[in-house]
Amino acid sequence: AKVSGRNQIRRFDSTLRERATGRARALLDLRMAVQNGEFELAYQPQVSAATGAVVGFEALLRWNHPVSGVVSPADFISVAEETGLIVPIGAEVLRTASALATTWPDHVRIAVNVSQVQLRSVGYVESVRNVLRETGLAAERLEIEVTESLVIDDSDREVLLRIAELGVAIAMDDFGTGYSSVASLSLLPVDRLKIDRAFVSQLDADPTESRTAVFRAIVDIAESMGLETVAEGVETDRQRAVVTECGCRVVQGYLEGRPMPAADVDAFIESRRNY
Ligand code: C2E
Ligand code: CA
Ligand code: CA
Ligand code: CA
Repeated sequence: AKVSGRNQIRRFDSTLRERATGRARALLDLRMAVQNGEFELAYQPQVSAATGAVVGFEALLRWNHPVSGVVSPADFISVAEETGLIVPIGAEVLRTASALATTWPDHVRIAVNVSQVQLRSVGYVESVRNVLRETGLAAERLEIEVTESLVIDDSDREVLLRIAELGVAIAMDDFGTGYSSVASLSLLPVDRLKIDRAFVSQLDADPTESRTAVFRAIVDIAESMGLETVAEGVETDRQRAVVTECGCRVVQGYLEGRPMPAADVDAFIESRRNY
C-alpha cells in the first residue's frame, strides 16, 4: 500500500508538471503561430430550413500546428484568451473572413465568433469599422457571434450597441447553455439566437413531445421578440425535420455541411442555388 501510495503521488506530481509545461509550451507555440501565420479558417454553411439555400457561413478557427497537425479551437482558445493573444488572432479572423465574404453573392452572410476578451479590448468597435471600410463588406452581411455562456455587463452591452449601430448583426451563440435570461436578451441588440446543439441532439434520442416542446418554446419566444433562430449541430434528417416543423429558420450542422476550406465555399453555394 505504501509503494502504490508513493507511486500515486509521483504520478499526480508528474501529471501536474506536464500540465504546467503543456500550458507554457502551448503559449510559446501560440506566439509563434501568430508570427508565422499558422491559423486558417474553415467555413461552415448555414442554410435556410425552408429551402436549403445558403444564407451564410460561420468562420471557425483552425491552427495548423507544425508538429501536432490541426488543433481544434477548443484546445487553444482559452490559452489565447488568458494571454490576450486572442485579440490579434481575433482581429485577423475578422479581417480574413470579411475579405473572403466580399467575393460571395450579396445575400450570403459571414458570421464571426468574438471572445469576450476581444469585445472588452480597447478599440474593438473601431477595428470592426476599419475592417468594413478596408474590405468594403456591407455591414449587414457581417454577423458577430457572442457566446451566451458569458456574463454580459453594462459595458459589454454598450459595445454591442455600438456594433449594432454600425449595421452589423449580432447573434447570441450557444443559447440555452448560459446565464442570459429572456429578460436580459430584450436589453441587448440581438438579431439571431443560435440554439445550442445540446437541445438539437436530444430531438433524436428522445422522440417524446416534451423535448420537442422545449425546443418549440425557445423558437416561439425568440420569434415573439423578433429574433431569428438558428439550430446548431443538426446531424440527422429527423433533427432537421423537427427543428423546421418547430419554426426554426436556419440550420447549421454536419448534415448540411462540415466546416470547409475557403476554396470550397463557392461550389457549395452553387450546389444549393436551385433549392
Ligand atoms: P461554436 O461557435 O459553438 O461553433 C460550433 C462548433 O460546433 C464548431 O466546432 C463546429 O465545427 C461544431 N459543429 C458544427 N456542426 C456540428 C455537428 O453537426 N455536430 C457536432 N458534433 N459538432 C458540430 P469548432 O470548430 O471545433 O469550434 C469550437 C468552438 O471554438 C466554437 O464553438 C467557438 O466557441 C470557438 N471558436 C471557433 N473559432 C473561433 C474564433 O475565430 N474566435 C473565437 N473567439 N472562438 C472561436
Ligand atoms: Ca459560434
Ligand atoms: Ca455555438
Ligand atoms: Ca459551442
